[in-house]
Amino acid sequence: MAGLAAALELSHLGYRVRVIEQASAPGGKIRQVPSMAGPVDIGPTVLTLVHVFRDLFDTVGENLDDYIDLVRQKILVRHWWSDGTSLDLFDRHDSNLDAIQDVFGSVARQEYAKFHRETADLFDAFDAPMMRNPEPTLGSMNRVVLQQPSLIKKMRPHQTLAGYLSGQFSNPKLGQLFGRYATYVGGSPLASPAMLGLVWQAEARGVWAIRGGMGKLARTIEQLAVNRGAHFSYDTQVERLDVHNDKVRGVYLDNGEYIAANFVVFNGDPQALALGHLGTGGTPAVPGSQRTMARSLSAYVWGFAAKYSGPDLIHHNVFFADETNSEFRDIKRGIFPTDPTVYICAQDRGKNMSYPDTERFEMIVNAAPASQMAPSQEDFSQCNDKVLNRLAKFGITFQTQFETRNLTTPRQFAARFPGSDGSLYGPSPSGMLSALKKPKTQSPIAGLYLVGGGVHPGAGVPMVTLCARHAVAKITGAPISTSMSRQTVTPGGMSTA
Ligand SMILES: Cc1cc2nc3c(=O)[nH]c(=O)nc-3n(C[C@H](O)[C@H](O)[C@H](O)COP(=O)(O)OP(=O)(O)OC[C@H]3O[C@@H](n4cnc5c(N)ncnc54)[C@H](O)[C@@H]3O)c2cc1C
Repeated sequence: MAGLAAALELSHLGYRVRVIEQASAPGGKIRQVPSMAGPVDIGPTVLTLVHVFRDLFDTVGENLDDYIDLVRQKILVRHWWSDGTSLDLFDRHDSNLDAIQDVFGSVARQEYAKFHRETADLFDAFDAPMMRNPEPTLGSMNRVVLQQPSLIKKMRPHQTLAGYLSGQFSNPKLGQLFGRYATYVGGSPLASPAMLGLVWQAEARGVWAIRGGMGKLARTIEQLAVNRGAHFSYDTQVERLDVHNDKVRGVYLDNGEYIAANFVVFNGDPQALALGHLGTGGTPAVPGSQRTMARSLSAYVWGFAAKYSGPDLIHHNVFFADETNSEFRDIKRGIFPTDPTVYICAQDRGKNMSYPDTERFEMIVNAAPASQMAPSQEDFSQCNDKVLNRLAKFGITFQTQFETRNLTTPRQFAARFPGSDGSLYGPSPSGMLSALKKPKTQSPIAGLYLVGGGVHPGAGVPMVTLCARHAVAKITGAPISTSMSRQTVTPGGMSTA
């Protein structure tokens, strides 16, 4: 997505752009597999911070809504526990307060209100100086804290997310629920800083589904870039960077072609450069301190079509493990969780349309990066049995024949995304200052820019799009224009004071 966004903006500005992609289609981790019910998304499904895409389209003189049919989800996620407890979270704060009170009581309501308020303060305080800043430093972080000293208490610098949540919520189910947000950026709540509770805010501010699936966003951006003269070559790998006197001069492709270039925007995993996969010339792009950063989580991902029977699903559903954080202890040991939390995206639901009898599903179980996996953890029937047995406890059955092609494992992710070790979200977010340690878009090699989930501001479809915009701003020397205020509903309409 970062490569596509950079290609669109640069071609719009009149640069001659070539995109070299080793896969057969655009999108990278935004990927589909065929099924009897049509293409199934097997990458990202939770689309948040839509204003980032609106800004990108505005910048190239287009309107996102002319191309992408967005459906805002009133119910963000439906959560289930095997004792029969179920909780919906909504895109309205007051609805969440009521829902939490209905299921967990009035103390839980107050605890959630405090959690929401504090994470909102953190999100708002750090959005501009960290996320939107192409090169945040300890100084920029300190300045925010000096201006609002009350943030320190909310940041809880010495606590993990799991530790903070277990003190914040009397009911462990709510700690488990909000701890899961660390996995959105590839972290375990047991190792992530308490501050990562702010990831909830990205979702609380709106989740959208795309009619036609996430792939539509990637294909649309590709087409808009083509319309502006960008040229895409698929099934083609960049084998080596041509670097001379600390400046990039072009790239060598696996088909023997050489492309001379003034600028190269690298959207692969920065570790691929560090490990010398693109030749020794590219290794200085990632300084030593960034080469030893721990990797974020990987996942087992299923994509399939089936007739479903079980509890009433919405678009996004989470079926929790019985014991909070047991899955993260198993993942640390490199084994498939004995008691996994399973995310299910029922892709045909939540789009204000009737859904077919045979539906499309994506299922995700978190996992360790490939190199930390114990041997034999990728056995297809074992993984399948464990997750289907777990779902059977919730009364769920899928009427379909699961085949190996339905599952992508951490090792398969590692093969698909070179240098990634199968980790899906770049460096691990463990440690208070991990956000500052990530590679930045301007590399130490002149003309070489890094974009994507392994680069500041990090993983997630909107984040990597922001990252691309940082790279374009560096290349053109112009600051990016991203709106500081999100579109919102204002009570009172025109009569608002
Ligand atoms: C299962 C899953 C679920 C996710 N869920 C969500 C979600 O719900 N919401 C969300 O916001 N994010 C989610 N994410 C994360 C999100 O998908 C990623 O952060 C984002 O899409 C990564 O984009 P990127 O720009 O880093 O590029 P990538 O998607 O990593 O693509 C990089 C591209 O570079 C190509 N490439 C690499 N090296 C070379 C080379 N040498 N030559 C040619 N081509 C090369 C690769 O083939 C690939 O196409 C999820 C990810 C996964 C895998």
